Formats: sequence, C-alpha cells, structure tokens
Amino acid sequence: MVVLSCDPNDLEGSMRLIEELTTNAGRIQEEVLQEILERNSGTEYLHGFLHGRSRLDQFKEEVPVVDYDQVKPYIDRLANGEPSQIISTEPILELLTSSGTSGGQPKMMPSTAEELDRKTFFYNILIPVMNRYVEGLEEGKSMYLLFVKPEISTPSGLPARPVLTSYYKSGHFRNRPFNRYNVFTSPDEVILCSDAKQSMFCQLLCGLVQRTDVLRVGAVFASAFLRAVKFLEDHWRELCANIRSGRVSDWIPDGPCREAVSRVLLRPDPALADLIEAECGQPESWGGIVRRLWPRTKYVDVIVTGSMAQYIPLLEFYGGGLPLVSTMYGSSECYLGINLRPLDRPADVSYTLLPNMAYFEFMQVDDERTYECASDCTGDLKVVDLVDVEVGRYYELVVTTFTGLYRYRVGDILMVTGFHNAAPQFRFVHRRNVVLSVDTDKTNEEDLLRAVTRAKLLLEPLGWLLTEYTSYADTASIPGHYVLFWELKATAASGNEDGLALDRAVMEDCCSAVESCLDAVYRRCRKRDLSIGPLEIRVVRTGAFDVLMDYCVSRGSSVNQYKTPRCIKPPEAIRLLDEVVVGRFFSTKVPFWEPYEMDVKAIPPSS
Ligand code: AMP
Repeated sequence: MVVLSCDPNDLEGSMRLIEELTTNAGRIQEEVLQEILERNSGTEYLHGFLHGRSRLDQFKEEVPVVDYDQVKPYIDRLANGEPSQIISTEPILELLTSSGTSGGQPKMMPSTAEELDRKTFFYNILIPVMNRYVEGLEEGKSMYLLFVKPEISTPSGLPARPVLTSYYKSGHFRNRPFNRYNVFTSPDEVILCSDAKQSMFCQLLCGLVQRTDVLRVGAVFASAFLRAVKFLEDHWRELCANIRSGRVSDWIPDGPCREAVSRVLLRPDPALADLIEAECGQPESWGGIVRRLWPRTKYVDVIVTGSMAQYIPLLEFYGGGLPLVSTMYGSSECYLGINLRPLDRPADVSYTLLPNMAYFEFMQVDDERTYECASDCTGDLKVVDLVDVEVGRYYELVVTTFTGLYRYRVGDILMVTGFHNAAPQFRFVHRRNVVLSVDTDKTNEEDLLRAVTRAKLLLEPLGWLLTEYTSYADTASIPGHYVLFWELKATAASGNEDGLALDRAVMEDCCSAVESCLDAVYRRCRKRDLSIGPLEIRVVRTGAFDVLMDYCVSRGSSVNQYKTPRCIKPPEAIRLLDEVVVGRFFSTKVPFWEPYEMDVKAIPPSS
C-alpha cells in the first residue's frame, strides 16, 4: 500500500476517499500488513520469528504482542549506531520521544521519511472533514498556538524529539502548499523558535494583531491552549504596549522570530491596543475572553478527550460557549484516527482509525475497570482485527507500523461506539496505568510509588511514617499541579500527635523530592514549559483513608479486595479528604531537567 495522497481543497474527492477507506477497511488492513511483511520479513526482528516467511497467518501465530520492554533493546541499538535493518528496511531517520515512559525514561519510537508523507496525508484529510461541518473557514485564518520542544542527538547522530517537533521542523510542514484553509496567524519562524516564552509571546502578539481575521483558535492539546490564555492574562499589558508602539519588546532576541513578527506588526495601532486593553482590563471576569478578543471565532480546536477532558469546564469558561473540537487521535508510534463528526459534544467524541496508517489489532479487555490485568495476561487475551471489534467492548490498541514496530501495545484503552461503513469508531477511554496527567506528562502508579518512597525517607528520621497516600491532578487553576494526600503516623520517637507539628521545611523538601524523582517529561513541563505548577502535599488527619475506603466500598468496591486507589477522580472523594487536611505544603524548588537527559547516553547536538 503506497502512501495515499489527499487534496484538501477537493471536498468531494476527499469525502469519497474517506468512504472508500472505511468501506474497504478489512481489505486495506490486509494489504497494509502484507506490504509491511514483504518489506520487513528479512529484518533481524521479524526474521527471528518468521524465518523469512511473510504470510499473514504466520505473522499472527509467530510474532508476539509486545510492550516497550521488548522493543527497547532494538531502539537502544539504533541510538548507538546499529543499522536500521535490525527492525526496518526503510532507513530510520529519527526517534520520536513519546510522553509515555519506561522506567522513568521517555519511550522512543522509530520513524522514517515515508512516515512524514503519511502524516501529511493525515493532516490533509482532516481539513475537508472540518469544512463539511463549518462553512467559510477559507475566508480567514487559524490562530493555532504550536510549539517545538528541545531535541537531542543520539550517539549515532539520530535526532530524538517529540513527534510534533519533528513534523513542524520538517519540509512537509514548512513547504506545505499554499492552502486557503490552512492560513495560520503564527509565522513558521515563530512556531519554530525554540524558546517557549518568546514563541508564546510572539504567537499571541500575531494573533491579536490579526484578531478580526481569526476564524478558529486552538492548540494541539487543551492544556497548551489554556496555558496561552494564562500567559495572555499575565502579559496583555505588554502585548498591548507592543501593538501601540508597533515594536516588539526588546527581550525577544531571536532574530528570525523578531523579523517575522515585524512583518505582521506593521505599524503602531493605538486603537487596537485600546480595544484589547478594554477587554482584558475588565476586572470582574475573563469569562468569554476568547470570543471577545477574536470575535469571528467559530470553534476552539483542541483535543479534549482522554486526560484532557479535565479542562473542559475552563475552556467553556474562557471560550464563552464556543464549540470544543477534537479533530484527531495520534501518537508517536503512528497517527491513528480522525473524528468524522467534529461538532459532537466532547463526551460523545469517537475516532475512526484510518486503515491505511498502520495495521491495527485489538486486545480484548473485559471492561473499563479490569484493564490493569491486561499487562500480565496477554497470553490469555483475545486479539482481534480492526473490522472484528464489537460495539460496546473495551480493547487495548496494538499496532504494527511501517516504521519497525510489530504488534506493539500502545497502552491506550478504547471503547467501540459504532461503525462508519466497515470501520469501527472508538471512544478514547484512558491510557493503561496512567494515574496523573496535567499536560503531556503521563505518570503511572510505579513512577508515583518510586517518587513517594524516596520522599518519605526524609520524614522517617523525624519520627513520621507514611501510612497511606493517594493523589489527584488539580487543574482548577492554570497551570494545574499534582496533589498528594498523605496520612502520617507519629512513632514514639516524634512525640507528635498530629500533622500540625510537622516541620514545614521538611515537608517542602518532601514535595521537591517527589518531583525530582518523577520522569523527564514531568520535569520538563515544570521547568521549561511551566505547564505544571509546584507539587503539593496535603497531610490528612489519622483515619482519613478509612473514610476513603468507606466511600469506595459504598460505591461498589469489595471490602476484601479493597486497595487504596493511588489516584482519585470523583470530586466527592477529593472533598472527603480535603475536609480533614491538617497541613498543605508546596515544592519550593524547580526540579532538575536538561534537554539531553535521556537513557541512551545521548549527547547534546552541539557537542
Ligand atoms: P505521545 O506518545 O507523547 O505521542 O502521546 C500519544 C498518546 O497521547 C496517545 O497514545 C494517547 O494516550 C494520547 N492521545 C493522543 N491523542 C489523543 C486524543 N485525541 N484523545 C485522547 N488521548 C490522546
């Protein structure tokens, strides 16, 4: 199966293509797998299982469903200079650093030149779908706040970077053909500026100057869009001063960025500055600010499914009721699915996996609550093809990509909501094991346990034992932050009766210790992106976790099998613990993070 192309300006043709892809999903999936096997059955990885054979049934019988642990040795070998052929006949040109982690390190996914073509196809096909539902988008611009993240070079010289950074830096993005549906307010130079603060300031400045052209606003994930709103709240006076004077602030040293902004900020515009100041300066409320500043906006284009659903109330507040549109579902492994009914309410959003993107299989998971067991019992679990999934069932997604991943468990749990022609549609349920997520961070139970175990050591010499803990992501304000509830017990040595006698400095050190043990994505969000606020520990009164257990049991947990949940989501459970908090402590240190801090003894690009 060659990479398909899609002309986004051709609405009819694109919709026909979607119909063909979804009607023939089963056949296309077979062709995709056949092509992958024909190309790659001689690679070291596949040869080890198939011994040169490439029949589809042999693939299913012989090649195991794997986790990152089984893939990592190959990735490490690529990073250290072994040839791509160990997993792929197409040259692996880069490694995409995923926000998923393995042992605290970002996972890295192989990618090829051809895969960029596939991503371009994917982005192109999103455009006509949106145009079908919202008219007139060609008459204005999109204020998309897009950012690149730092990258490293592996010892063998492969770039290792997040998937979106890879795409924005590619010729596919920079040389995208002029397309009237795809006109952004942010110049490419500003998107590509590696300094997050300069980039944010300049993108907002360009968006404000072109406010009457803007027909949609957005970012990839909801958290990034809200971070922009918060940035605006903190910097609107300076942004207005720039608009008033027609000159960008001196603290923006990035040459290409300054030059690109000056092409937008053509002349002093005191009237526009007055207008924006009047909107932003209204002391009582920022409710509906997006609508007021960008009055022609038709919708907010951000992913609000999965862990991003926690941001829906804030987005509704700032957006003043603008529709929230999640257009796509993708990952570092490969891009996956599109939303064919983009104006559906966030809770009803389903994604249709495009059968030409990769070969998809699905591991049956009994139901939403038993998904954890899937990690231990793949042998027993039924794995089915894309067209064979059943409506109402839960599955974990398994992909075989064109880039060297074979029967790889992505870790996402999906539920089948229906079919479009022969192609199933999925609601994103959650990611396996992830307990906390504020931005692109994904902290699992193991990461959290490791961090808490390290931090509690600080308390033990003072006579305090940590008896129970749980957590939640507090996203009521921007940026959101992790909250841990700790129940402590005073040993004889401490003579302390309750949490009030805790030493503040030590507790703050505990907060910092937890943060310093969390993974590199968390620490990048804290230090560089400022998208996560300082971690908080709330010490609760003795017995608080018994109350939590009573609550969980009252909601159907079995008393015998009860285990303290390491993350709590129901507001009622959070409220129960909040009512018995005896001390609140925040991290006062920014955790260590370096862009080249990775597992493969990687070196910074300059050295
Ligand atoms: P990454 O590995 O950093 O590229 O992140 C990819 C992961 O982000 C996916 O496997 C999902 O868990 C999550 N994700 C991506 N798109 C969506 C979406 N539309 N809705 C919910 N979660 C998503």
